[in-house]
Amino acid sequence: MGPMRLIDRFGRTIEYVRLSVTDRCDLRCFYCMPKGFRDFQEPDHWLTFDEIERVMGAFARLGVRRVRLTGGEPLVRKGLPDLARRLAALPGVEDLSLSTNCTRMARHATDLHAAGISRINVSLDSLRPERFRQITGGRLDKVMDGLMAASAAGFAPIKINMVVMGGVNDDEVGDMVEFCIEHGFTLRFIETMPMGDTGRSASDHYLDLREVRRRLERRFDLVPGVMPGGGPARYVQVAGTDLRIGFITPISQHFCETCNRVRLAADGTLYMCLGQEHNLALRPLLRGGADDAELEQAIRRAIDLKPERHEFREKPGQVVRFMSMTGG
Ligand code: SAM
Repeated sequence: MGPMRLIDRFGRTIEYVRLSVTDRCDLRCFYCMPKGFRDFQEPDHWLTFDEIERVMGAFARLGVRRVRLTGGEPLVRKGLPDLARRLAALPGVEDLSLSTNCTRMARHATDLHAAGISRINVSLDSLRPERFRQITGGRLDKVMDGLMAASAAGFAPIKINMVVMGGVNDDEVGDMVEFCIEHGFTLRFIETMPMGDTGRSASDHYLDLREVRRRLERRFDLVPGVMPGGGPARYVQVAGTDLRIGFITPISQHFCETCNRVRLAADGTLYMCLGQEHNLALRPLLRGGADDAELEQAIRRAIDLKPERHEFREKPGQVVRFMSMTGG
């Protein structure tokens, strides 16, 4: 028998898990988490590091090769480098990465890199301190300190994720390009998705990224580019520089036919799609004494539930979870 693989009903191989280690966040991006939101799950309901390691071990035996730690803000969870070390050591896991807002990175960069996280994605929607505060409720200087610490610690690549919103920050796309050229970062623009009431309210600012690309083409010479492991982003390169720019267009040009991932929420719920509710609760299995074979069987069955595509466009009111609940 060849190596195990998880293949869904549409022939897609699932080899990537987004692992949310907390639904808490120290920022309040207006399009993501409701202001003053406190109804966080009780930590008792979060999977422990032992449970996470066990589930990810099962995924790795089933062919998962890539794991991304996310949240909420993953650095809010205590002991993250310890978890990272355990996951990086799992046989089969080849690539361990992290999505972070970088507010706490200055303190943890060296440990996280030493633990086996090789690359990071950082959300950054504005380079202007006052605007950054309006969008996120947080301080830009902390993020900048974190970014520079990450760069010094050796993460590569560092990808900056900017959610581009009309009338909010779309006038900064050119500045963001310059900033990423200067620091050697990769840049990705993202369209707002109607996730939860917060995401839907931001849809008023939805901007088709094809328009952003047209605007950038007036200022920069963009040539088609590739990014190893680039995922769903379509990449271009700015001529004469090392900068690659990715466009992540879940709304204007969805990419579900190449989807290779599932998402494990902090409470152990496995979601098959960011934009649909199909899920499997793994926590009862883990705490109910399921053995490894039963766990693997349950994961296989869950993959059969993976829907063909999201319906953000057709049914924008559908997803009640906001982003930090599923893991962005
Ligand atoms: N805290 C980490 C971070 O900042 O990257 C990980 C979680 S965060 C939810 C992941 C990404 O989702 C961020 O880049 C954020 O901007 C994005 N995001 C959240 N809500 C969104 C929405 N409604 N539409 C598009 N992107 C969204």
